[in-house]
Amino acid sequence: MPTVLILGGTGEARRLASVPLPGYRVISSLAGRVADPVLPAGEVRIGGFGGPDGLTAYLRAERVDVVVDATHPFAAQISANAASACASAGTRLLVLRRPGYAFGGHRVASLREAAALVPSLGERAFLTTGRQSLPYFRGLAMFLLLRCVDPPEDVPSNVEVRLDRGPFTVDGETALLREHRIDVLVTKDSGGALTAAKLDAAQALGIPVVVVDRPPVTPGVPVLSTVDEVRRLLLP
Ligand code: NAP
Repeated sequence: MPTVLILGGTGEARRLASVPLPGYRVISSLAGRVADPVLPAGEVRIGGFGGPDGLTAYLRAERVDVVVDATHPFAAQISANAASACASAGTRLLVLRRPGYAFGGHRVASLREAAALVPSLGERAFLTTGRQSLPYFRGLAMFLLLRCVDPPEDVPSNVEVRLDRGPFTVDGETALLREHRIDVLVTKDSGGALTAAKLDAAQALGIPVVVVDRPPVTPGVPVLSTVDEVRRLLLP
């Protein structure tokens, strides 16, 4: 039976794991970063593979025929590893990536650039860039509201942490921005309707938004934007 490995950690990956793919063995893989992950349906493995060589060995051992890289658009390391391992093992690779936000804002290429820009736009920033982004903003002498799924370590006194994994609504985001008197929002261009409510709320309140652009996808790898497109490609 042909085997599909879904590299996950996103809502799209969970949706793909839950649609019927008759005739396939489907394995979902999670990094194991979140303490209490929402598990996909079906067979799941958790933890890193040990770099591209470890992933190549896994693809061979499990006789994986197709890898669907459905990881977060900013999980650049695992995507690069997947491209390299699939090339080494001769395994077909597809990327499932939701479209980015149709939103201009102040576009920057990196978290470092975002941190440099934020103090010129406001005094109270809302960071929706994840726990691992905190080091980039650590040196800023301003109020920072950081929303993340798991608590970060070593939180400076000017940073308030709000643990929440959503889903978020425009009303909820508006109330949060008002409650903390936020005057600048920072987001990655993650895309997806579930996280877009903050953009609508910020726009309605006239709050500037700093958007960190996505890292590029490995050239030559087919990129699909919906679960249904992947399903249609896999099923005859
Ligand atoms: P990353 O920097 O691209 O990957 C770091 C390492 O984590 C990889 O080299 C790999 O370890 C392991 N890894 C990542 N995804 C994996 C997966 N699906 N299965 C097995 N191992 C995986 O990743 P990240 O940005 O830390 O994100 C970690 C996970 O969280 C990803 O699965 C991603 O989809 C999800 N996520 C990330 C973000 C974000 O903003 N970055 C947001 C939401 C969800 P080895 O080298 O040992 O194989």
